[in-house]
Amino acid sequence: MATVVAITGASSGIGAATARELAARGADVVLGARRTERLDELAEEIRAKGGRASVRAVDVTSRADVDGLVAAAVEEFGRLDVLVGNAGISRIGPVAQLDVEGWQAMIDVNVRGVLHGIAAALPVFERQRRGHFVTTVSTAGIKITPTMAVYGGTKNAVRTILEGLRQESTAGWLRTTSVSPGYVRTELADSIGDPVLRAEIQRNMNEFAIAPEAVARAIAFAIEQPDDVEIGDITIRPTTQD
Ligand code: NDP
Repeated sequence: MATVVAITGASSGIGAATARELAARGADVVLGARRTERLDELAEEIRAKGGRASVRAVDVTSRADVDGLVAAAVEEFGRLDVLVGNAGISRIGPVAQLDVEGWQAMIDVNVRGVLHGIAAALPVFERQRRGHFVTTVSTAGIKITPTMAVYGGTKNAVRTILEGLRQESTAGWLRTTSVSPGYVRTELADSIGDPVLRAEIQRNMNEFAIAPEAVARAIAFAIEQPDDVEIGDITIRPTTQD
C-alpha cells in the first residue's frame, strides 16, 4: 500500500524536490500551491516515471483551500498518511523597518497556513488512527539572526505548535516532524522586499546553499520510519554555514 502524501508549496524548491523524491520511492503525492501550471508539469513528470500524482490549487492562507487539498487526497487515494506543510515566504528585514505588511504576510502563510493544514488533516488522521505532520521550519529559528527576527519567529511558532501537538497526542497514531533547513538553493529569496538584502541572500544561496533534494531526502527519512518511530526534529544545513 503506497503512502499518501499531500505537500503544500509543491510548485518549486523544497516542496517540488520532496514530491519527486517521495514519488520515486513509491508514494502517491497530492501537490498543492498557487502556481498550478508548475504543479501540472511536475505531476506529468511524476506520472511519466510511473508514479501517481494529483494537483490542487491551494493558497494556504485560505482554510477552504487547505481543506480541499486534504479532501482531494482522501477522495483520490482513499486516505492521507502525511501532510507536508512546506509553503512559506521570507519577507525578511530589520524589525525597525516596520514592514507590518510583510510581517502579516509571513504570519498568514508560515503560521496560519500550517494551522490550516492541522485543522484539515487532524480529523482525518484521528479517524484513520494514523497520520504524520511534517513542516519545513528553519535554522533562522535556532540561530537568531538580524533581519530574520520575524521570519525566524514564525518558524519557531510552528515548531512550538507541532511539539505541543505531539505532547497532546501520545496514543501512538500521530507523528510530527519539524525540519529546519539552513541555506537551500531555491526561489525563496525572491519574496524578500528589500533589494539589497535580496541580492545578499541570493548571493549566499548561489555560493554555498545545499540543493533542495538534500532536504527532500531528510523528509523521506522521517516518513519512512516504522509507525512507532518519530523523528521529531531534523536540522540540515551546508557544512559552511555558521
Ligand atoms: P520556494 O520559494 O522555492 O518555495 C516556496 C513554496 O511556497 C512555493 O511552492 C510557493 O508556491 C509556496 N507558497 C508561497 N506562498 C503560498 C501560499 N500563500 N499558498 C500556497 N503556497 C504558497 O522556497 P523554498 O522551497 O526554499 O521554501 C519552502 C519552505 O522551506 C518554506 O517554508 C521556507 O520558509 C523553508 N525554508 C527554506 C530555506 C531556504 O534556504 N530556501 C531555509 C529554511 C527554510 P506558489 O507561489 O506557487 O503558491
